[in-house]
Amino acid sequence: MQIFEKLEEYRYEQVVFCHDKATGLKAIIVIHNTTLGPALGGCRMYPYESEEAAVVDCLRLARGMTYKAAVSGLNLGGGKSVIIGDPERDKSEALFRSFGRYIETLGGRYITAEDVGTSTEDMANIQVETSYVVGVDKTYGGSGDPSPFTALGVLQGMRACVEEVFGTTSLEGRTVAVQGLGHVGYHLCRLLDEEGANLIVADVRKDRVEQAIREFGAKPVAPEEIVSVPCDVFAPCALGAVVNDESLPKLRCQIIAGSANNVLLEPRHGEELSRRGILYAPDYVINAGGLINVADELEGYNAQRATSRVMRIYDAVKGVIAISKRDRVPTHVAADTLALERIEAIAGMVRLHTGHPYGHLQRRSRERL
Ligand code: NAD
Repeated sequence: MQIFEKLEEYRYEQVVFCHDKATGLKAIIVIHNTTLGPALGGCRMYPYESEEAAVVDCLRLARGMTYKAAVSGLNLGGGKSVIIGDPERDKSEALFRSFGRYIETLGGRYITAEDVGTSTEDMANIQVETSYVVGVDKTYGGSGDPSPFTALGVLQGMRACVEEVFGTTSLEGRTVAVQGLGHVGYHLCRLLDEEGANLIVADVRKDRVEQAIREFGAKPVAPEEIVSVPCDVFAPCALGAVVNDESLPKLRCQIIAGSANNVLLEPRHGEELSRRGILYAPDYVINAGGLINVADELEGYNAQRATSRVMRIYDAVKGVIAISKRDRVPTHVAADTLALERIEAIAGMVRLHTGHPYGHLQRRSRERL
């Protein structure tokens, strides 16, 4: 792999390789863009099959964080880190503290958080060595489980889509098909039930389906049927790549709005949704509630402020829809445009010098007199 070519392609700022023989640490930190603020992004621990695979994954994820923070109105840039190792076998206090020391050397340019393969305990170990970490346990001033905030954000994004298609933000009487009743899916069902929506649900876990029937009067369908049930909104809250060549012809919804990451198998599937007149709320815009919540820790966590910021996902999705119409592009393309427009606007602001440019020289010449 030609790494500098890769960095040039998407204008990455910095890649840091962290190695500690004593603890076995092999980690990569990627800082993609800090125009809007320090780069925030989780730390993934995964037994990558090669170092190249780890670098490629980290580069891709870091860039995604730049866009996500930008559309969410956060004053944060995009970054990510990966630790090469098996989270079941290779974790130790020293490993994460060692990684924390590397983060500290960056002086706040990169802030880490939990991700796949890492936990709040790991963040607590990192926190011993650096304050540039969020997503620590509630007892350490952390923000706790992000899922209810992610679900609230999805509901707000869904409102923006429903308004576009049906002319009202109300979900009362709308039929919503929820795929996956885990952390986010369950909270989303609860919010939708409170709004008076009709729920159709599916999960591979029977107990979760039964709970949704009991608590929300949801109608269950088999996991393989949920993509093809007639509904107003399909809310994928389980897996990625649910919109693909196989599922596309089966979809019988008008809107796709859920929490899952990487909903589109490939960008061309977003174009096909648009051709079919299905409004897609881009994943990284609508599922940013968890990020918005965890980022609030940087200001001393306040759940009320985090909630009101998450509510703004409605505006973000409206903004995406407006750009999609303005530029006649699918919404997944419009989301990137919204992010880039904000970054460019901030980067292009007037640069003002303040103070005397050679103050120290002036002082020195005065001292000589
Ligand atoms: P989770 O693991 O708690 O829940 C996923 C649920 O999906 C589980 O109940 C699982 O049994 C079910 N499931 C798995 N395969 C299925 C299938 N084929 N059909 C139907 N159900 C199936 O995960 P989560 O935290 O609720 O996250 C859900 C999605 O949202 C993931 O894609 C995640 O990356 C994304 N996301 C979550 C957050 C968050 O705050 N938790 C934030 C952003 C994005």
